[in-house]
Amino acid sequence: MSTSIRQVSKRFNQTSALSSIDLSIEDGEFVAILGPSGCGKTTLLRLLAGFDTPTEGEIDMNGKLVAQKGRRIPPEQRNIGMVFQSFALWPHMKVKEQIRFPLRYHHFVEKQLQEKADERVGEMLSLVGLEDFGERMPHELSGGQKQRVAIARALAPKPSLLLMDEPLSSLDAELRMELRNEIQRIHRKTHISIVYVTHDQSEALAMADKIVVMKDGKIEQVGTPEEIYRKPKTVFVAAFVGKANIFRGSWNNSIFHPFGDNRIHWTVPYVSENLYKEQLCPIRPEQLGLSKQGSGVEGIVRNAQFQGKEMHYTVEVQGELILVHCGLFEQFKIGDKVVIQLKQQNTVNDFLFDERLGNDRSKLRETIPLH
Ligand code: ATP
Repeated sequence: MSTSIRQVSKRFNQTSALSSIDLSIEDGEFVAILGPSGCGKTTLLRLLAGFDTPTEGEIDMNGKLVAQKGRRIPPEQRNIGMVFQSFALWPHMKVKEQIRFPLRYHHFVEKQLQEKADERVGEMLSLVGLEDFGERMPHELSGGQKQRVAIARALAPKPSLLLMDEPLSSLDAELRMELRNEIQRIHRKTHISIVYVTHDQSEALAMADKIVVMKDGKIEQVGTPEEIYRKPKTVFVAAFVGKANIFRGSWNNSIFHPFGDNRIHWTVPYVSENLYKEQLCPIRPEQLGLSKQGSGVEGIVRNAQFQGKEMHYTVEVQGELILVHCGLFEQFKIGDKVVIQLKQQNTVNDFLFDERLGNDRSKLRETIPLH
């Protein structure tokens, strides 16, 4: 199902939870809504589900108007499935009954599915890898198994859109990774459109076709995981996704002088128009290296954390804290004077999308040494 959200705002008394949201969700697309607590993710999901009414704007599903200012079609008249953080299983029902329930009562279930409900329940149990758990009660399941049942229940009536609200956040780290793979596999198999709300950037990067980064009720950036990670348009996106250090300094075409020091030349493949104008440069901790001497940004190691396969250093530079991730062979002590350097990583392809350069290859030659 394709969904179109046009200029949607939602206010709760004095609180503006969403303002002027424009977004399209294509048929079969996996869209992650990513942002910190209170940015409006759940409110957007509730508007899509039909639990709430927009204060302004319109929502279309498959070309049909389902919500507009002050009016909405209720959830049962939209062909959607929902999965919540809290699983929301009925405590008195066996697993197979949980999955059969919506086949009986969901508005849009095809007659054929209703007639072959047992078969469909079996199919769903096998889709989520719980073939032998149909007779269990919810209290006899682990957290991960409960969430699998919730996913099977949501998918049983063949909804056109699956809404997932932080479905993995109450599970432990290992299970989260396992269920990520499961959800991806299920998406590939069913081709259902998914809107997946999360505050966990790694979940969004790992699973989504498209990420919508939100802040304070507004969309900061929409893009593929790679675009969002490698080409952040704002300070917020750079810092929230990928935990980038935001260096202040000065730009001269594609050369950045950190802290305005003209002796240091960092060739940076991409920077957004916004950040360029503000004379800022986002650089992730793994793009930096440390050494005892040489040219670079001078600082003092203030903290060091052993992380198994690498070291995480916090380096103070002119009163600011910069995070640097290094290999284990580079060891520094707290209090060491160090030099921060940008690792060599430039590729010509990165420049092809540079907003300042556009796609003009002649300009590329002026700014990048092509060898
Ligand atoms: P979290 O990740 O913590 O769940 P969120 O991004 O989902 O946060 P929302 O729950 O959508 O954020 O809330 C967005 C804003 O709207 C918040 O400031 C919240 O306090 C406010 N809000 C949400 N629901 C209501 C409500 N029913 N009445 C008043 N304010 C509300």
